[in-house]
Amino acid sequence: MKFICNQCQRTIFNRRLEHCEFCGAQIPEQLRLTTQEQEELEDEYLESRRHKGSISREPATRGGDFSSDWCWDE
Ligand SMILES: [Zn+2]
Repeated sequence: MKFICNQCQRTIFNRRLEHCEFCGAQIPEQLRLTTQEQEELEDEYLESRRHKGSISREPATRGGDFSSDWCWDE
């Protein structure tokens, strides 16, 4: 499916916009990305970045034996 502005007949490249980039006509809701679709795209983007290793994994959680860290002065 191609997304074309029904006023100027140009292709809509950025479906996140509410208005056509060329003529400023309102883009019908059915041609726009839904909030959910936007979030999915966002997820895919973040996911692909993670796979490239640019984002470090969360630090390793400490073991449960933290009582040994306590130091009693008395
Ligand atoms: Zn247009």
